[in-house]
Amino acid sequence: MDPFISCPYNSAHRVPQSRIQAHIVRCQSKHPELSPCPYNATHRLPKSELKCHVLSCPSRKEIFPDDKPLKVKANITAPKFLRHSDYLPESDPNHETWD
Ligand SMILES: [Zn+2]
Ligand SMILES: [Zn+2]
Repeated sequence: MDPFISCPYNSAHRVPQSRIQAHIVRCQSKHPELSPCPYNATHRLPKSELKCHVLSCPSRKEIFPDDKPLKVKANITAPKFLRHSDYLPESDPNHETWD
């Protein structure tokens, strides 16, 4: 079964899901002002709305089921930073007792 979905450029365009990518490419030339969603290329929005859409994009949950791409990034850098400061006193013995 091939469900019909709405064209992001014109909701009056009802296109079979298997054809939406090709349809979007054709419709795109008539609507160059819309930007593709980074999570789903079939989502097309004006730049001003894209930021808002990206935060609530339903496809983002498929890519990031925990819905925390920014926190994941922070968790990767934070332990490194902590380890670096833990490591300093060991690598520099003079650093320990100066008082
Ligand atoms: Zn269309
Ligand atoms: Zn999207």
